[in-house]
Amino acid sequence: MTTLSDRLKTAIRDVPDFPKPGIVFKDITPVLHDPVLFADVTAALAAPWKGKGITHVLAIESRGFLFGAPVAQHLGASLVPVRKPGKLPSAHLTEHYALEYGEDAVEVHTDAIDARSLVLIVDDVLATGGTAAATRRLAHRLGAGVAGIGVVMDLSFLPWRKALAGVHVETLVSF
Ligand code: AMP
Repeated sequence: MTTLSDRLKTAIRDVPDFPKPGIVFKDITPVLHDPVLFADVTAALAAPWKGKGITHVLAIESRGFLFGAPVAQHLGASLVPVRKPGKLPSAHLTEHYALEYGEDAVEVHTDAIDARSLVLIVDDVLATGGTAAATRRLAHRLGAGVAGIGVVMDLSFLPWRKALAGVHVETLVSF
């Protein structure tokens, strides 16, 4: 029997030297092109969190939006976009995080979640874990609980486990 992990390994496309030399980009667009696989992936992302009282899915820009939206619908939860700087129109919080060279940031609307919220963070890839860790800090700053993180794939040779030590992480396939 072909597992979902095997199907994802077949579908996800490696694009060497994108967006810059030395990076092997994991292209998930073939997953989106296959409606059966896409539906199976979003159902599998939601499954571990059913019945856990998740109130909000925090979906990380931009590929996290594609997976986070159907996961929120599966869980009957609210969808909260976590955006790159300068995109959110209303009052928001910002969390900065380090990149190999320089830094980046994520933002969330301050009225999106509060102390009554229990959130699930969703993205396509965990690499260094910096983006997900910063998203977790945003949730905590607004008083919300973080049940965990769900991703399509993780890059096991990168240090995301260290960045997210003690956090419940569910991943559908490891590279
Ligand atoms: P990180 O903060 O290092 O865990 O990186 C995670 C974010 O960068 C996610 O939003 C991913 O979409 C993106 N990302 C990092 N590495 C890759 C990669 N090799 N292929 C595709 N996306 C990546």
